Amino acid sequence: MAEKTALKVAGFVSQQRLLDRLAELACFGALDNGGVDRQALSDVELTARAWLIEWARALGCTVMTDDCANLFIRRAGREDLPPIVTGSHIDTQPGGGNLDGCYGVMAGMECLSALNDAAVITRRPIEVVVWTNEEGSRFSPGAMGSSAFVHPSRLADYLPHQDAQGITLAQALSRCHQRFSGLPRRAAVPMAAFIELHIEQGPVLQQAGLPLALVGGIQGVRWYQVCCHGTPAHAGTTPMADRQDAMTLARRIMQQLEQRAATLPADELRLTFGRWHVEPNAINTIAGRVTFTLDFRHPDAAVLARFDAWMQQLAAENVAVACVFSQAPVAFDPTLLDAQFACTQALQIETTTLISGAFHDAMHLASHCPTSMFFVPSHNGISHNPAEYTDPQYLYLGAKALACCLTELANQPTGVNHEHSHLSSLL
Ligand SMILES: [Zn+2]
Repeated sequence: MAEKTALKVAGFVSQQRLLDRLAELACFGALDNGGVDRQALSDVELTARAWLIEWARALGCTVMTDDCANLFIRRAGREDLPPIVTGSHIDTQPGGGNLDGCYGVMAGMECLSALNDAAVITRRPIEVVVWTNEEGSRFSPGAMGSSAFVHPSRLADYLPHQDAQGITLAQALSRCHQRFSGLPRRAAVPMAAFIELHIEQGPVLQQAGLPLALVGGIQGVRWYQVCCHGTPAHAGTTPMADRQDAMTLARRIMQQLEQRAATLPADELRLTFGRWHVEPNAINTIAGRVTFTLDFRHPDAAVLARFDAWMQQLAAENVAVACVFSQAPVAFDPTLLDAQFACTQALQIETTTLISGAFHDAMHLASHCPTSMFFVPSHNGISHNPAEYTDPQYLYLGAKALACCLTELANQPTGVNHEHSHLSSLL
């Protein structure tokens, strides 16, 4: 059961203030069609950062950054302990909406405002973090800031990566650091917990008619590229029996994989054959070579391993199989999820538990500290689109649950060991 103080802070969350701030943030990079284009470390994103920093200071918070330009907004606690952290990202897709990432940051700031209004000083500090370049639409890979925070040695590999104009990440970062040269830079610090609040970006919560989900984890991913070799030949003169048709071979492989995938529980599985390259791609020539990709996702590591085995079995003299990307599934912290559930119960918010279909910064944080997420519904499941929308009442309830949770965790009387590998001592 959540403490009285946590419920009191939740009571100071303001729906109007949250909506106003979301609308203000959406002005930075606003598109005529109602969407937002705010690329990581672009001029418009840096201006949004300046706005956020000024606001944070007005709330009495201190602001810090790090080598990858992640932004940490810290509300001091009574004791200088590892903080309870929330946040997300403020970069968008080129034609994005105003909620993906932004909602998590604005809701975190709303929690800080609510704490101020309730005149509550928590035992631990509470931080709102803005992770750099989550979308990956300007610089690859996505979720870069959180990745470099948890694994600082990765930043050196990212620095030469270029955007479409040939600007390197190193150049973009140095512009950002120059503009905010007054901000102290810190290295990765221990965190007592990280809770990310995000829109679902899928239709499940809306279909269930529920305002909020506890997120149990993030499904794992495999990307494969399959290259089938045949012999290009005349479509009119080559008898069917004499053909080595790369397209026939590719179709057979695709069918075989679909049949095997059909033996797995359908609700947890995602299989996509998204990219096809046919050579010579002519109407009257038998395909000599067909290259296609597979995106396979599942929350169970054992199923992903079984899929890997299927893919290896496909390799043959005329079939080359390459795994081009692999991400293990992430399970969020059960003790943290229990604390989230207790808060939603106390606030009488009905919830369910989901597995995230998309990547989030929380995926990387999970190997740094106890981590989990909340989802609010996405209208019609739409995201990465100007039409992205969530009922304001749900945005409000998500922020309330977050405020309750952050306060509750930050006020736990017992200490967290500095290895912070278990939250049990915190709760
Ligand atoms: Zn996001």
